[in-house]
Parts: sequence; structure tokens; C-alpha cells
Amino acid sequence: MKYDILLKGGTVIDAAQGLNARRDVAIAGGTIAAIEPDIPQDSAAHTVFVTDKYVTPGLVDIHTHVYHSVTTWGIRADAVCPNAGTTTVVDAGSPSWVTFPGFREFIAKPAQTEILAYIHISGIGLVYGPVGEMHELAYAHPARVAETLQKHRDITVGVKVRQGKMQVGDNGVEPLKLAIQAAEAADTPVMCHIGSGVPLPDILGLLRPGDVLTHCFQGNGDNIVDEKGRVIPDAWKAREDGVIFDVGHGAGSFRYEIAQRAMEQGFISDVISTDLHTGNINGPVYDLPTTLSKMMHLGLSLADAIEKATFSAAKAIRREEQLGHLKIGTVADVAVFELLEGEFAFFDSHGTKFIGDKKLNAVLTIREGKR
Ligand SMILES: [Zn+2]
Repeated sequence: MKYDILLKGGTVIDAAQGLNARRDVAIAGGTIAAIEPDIPQDSAAHTVFVTDKYVTPGLVDIHTHVYHSVTTWGIRADAVCPNAGTTTVVDAGSPSWVTFPGFREFIAKPAQTEILAYIHISGIGLVYGPVGEMHELAYAHPARVAETLQKHRDITVGVKVRQGKMQVGDNGVEPLKLAIQAAEAADTPVMCHIGSGVPLPDILGLLRPGDVLTHCFQGNGDNIVDEKGRVIPDAWKAREDGVIFDVGHGAGSFRYEIAQRAMEQGFISDVISTDLHTGNINGPVYDLPTTLSKMMHLGLSLADAIEKATFSAAKAIRREEQLGHLKIGTVADVAVFELLEGEFAFFDSHGTKFIGDKKLNAVLTIREGKR
């Protein structure tokens, strides 16, 4: 047999190749082997008929917390991702330079899901609850963080910092400056969490092209829209300068009204991620397809939503060569979705309920060519 698996009759959505059309996809030896309008069934050991379904690159969730058994936030990636079309997750700063070796050995290595990570600028990392991991600047050690990033390039993507008053106390944007210092030394991006108590323009003014602002539609205080509902000029400017805006839904960081106001003005997030952790996995987040469904309810097309959780996500973590598309010869990380129609109740992070008429549901996840 020429191919191991043939996905036959589906609609392939792959932004990197400009594809949104009926195609068959063949997998061999763990990589994408062919994408053609009609691949004969007898050329594959297993054929899966995916008529009326959507075949996409495996989803890449750039904001999750998967350091289970060590942090209170950590979920088990393999308990959710293989049922959710998600083949790669990035832990957003649970490990620090201190705890990274354990993360590598006990979390990333044994997982079926590909696990990458941002390393937190604080040596504490994100261990538990509402703890101010940067109340003391002495917790940051940019040189050690850079060293750890360089040593573990294969599974690290950048530096994480949380810039709310709850996390930094009276230190303002100093933690972000230290994170940027580490990121510059290791030539990686920063992912910066926003919340309240540190003026957003101060943060946006420091972020560099390619840095990621996560929780872009949060509504806790320092929001991207002002009291009149207008996107602040600093956010537009940062976007023009190349700062990447990411959803990072979370338990407290996605306010429906903020997203609606921003999107009405054409301010769409570049990346869609979940911030999945123990506090939201049983609702309101559940998984990445649910977050994508919410964004579709806010007006995104299916193709745009998929792109923001595949190719755009891969670009944000500088993995677009390997991830986020179905180019021939790349790793066979593939998802198959159905688009359910009906009445679906969705909730944001503040209990606001809205009813959508479509819901994206993963029916098959293939990671490295295996179902
Ligand atoms: Zn998070």
C-alpha cells in the first residue's frame, strides 16, 4: 500500500496553501503524502470517509497550562487534545527556568500531544492561584531564563510575563522589561498577559513586533476598548507595528461585549487560544473548538477561525515551517471537524450567555500520522 491513511471526500481548509476546497488527503510514514481531488481508495491501508466534513491542520493552542501534578492550574493535555482536534499545545509560563527540566521530562516527553512552552520570567513560574509571582523583581533572572530557552530550543517558544497589578504589585511594567531582556538574549518573543492595574498603553508601548499580547478581549480594567466602546489608538498602533493579539479565553479573560465591540470595528484577534486550565476545562472553555465556535458566533468565517488556530498560531510561536498546515512532507498532524447546526449555549468568562447556531465538533484527530 502506498498510503497508511486516506481521508476521502472532505473539504480541506489550509490557509498556508490557500486551500478551501474538496480534496483527498493521504498520509504515509507519519507525514502528509498527497493532497489531490481524487486519490484511489485502493492505494491506502485505511480509508476514512469524511464527506461533509472539514479536514484541517491539527490545531495549535498557544495558551494552555499543562504542568499537572506540580501546579494547581495544570490539566493533562492528552485528556482533552486528542478529542478536540488539537495536536500541539503551548504551556504559557507554568514552568520557570527552575522547574523547566521537570516539565520537559515528566510532561512534554511522555505526552502524545506535542507540548511546547513559554518559560515564565519569574523563577516561581505559575504554581498556584492568585499569587503575585512578580511582586518582587528579584524573582526574575533574565540570564537564567535566556540560558534555559537556548538549551531547550526544541520545545520552548519564548518568555511569559503577567502584567496585572495582582501579579506585579507596585512594579508597573518592570517585569515586562525583564522579560524582554531575557527574550532579546535568546532571540524569542514574549507573551504578555494583560488584566488590570497596569496601564495598557504602557505595556503596548514596550511590546516588540512578534511579541504576543494574550487575553486581548479581557474586560477586567485595562481593556483594548475604552468606556465608549472604541478600540484605543495604542492597540491599533501596536497591531500596525506587528504585535500579535491572542484571545487566551481563560476563566476570567474573555468578555463577550469587549470582543463584540472590537470586532465590530475590525479589530480581530490574530490568534485564537484557550488558556485552558483546571479552572475552566469544565466550562466555560472546555476546548479549542468551543472557543473557535464562539469566535464564529462573533462573525468569523470557519476558514478564518481555523487559520487563527493553525497557521497564524504557528507563526506566533515561530513554528510555521513545521506546524499549522498540511504541506506535503510535513508531520501528519490533522484534524477532522463537523459543523453542527442547532442552538448552542456559549458562555464567556463572566457568565454572559449567548446562543450560537453552529458548533465546531472534532470527529478525528491524527497526530504524527496516528489516530
Ligand atoms: Zn494562562
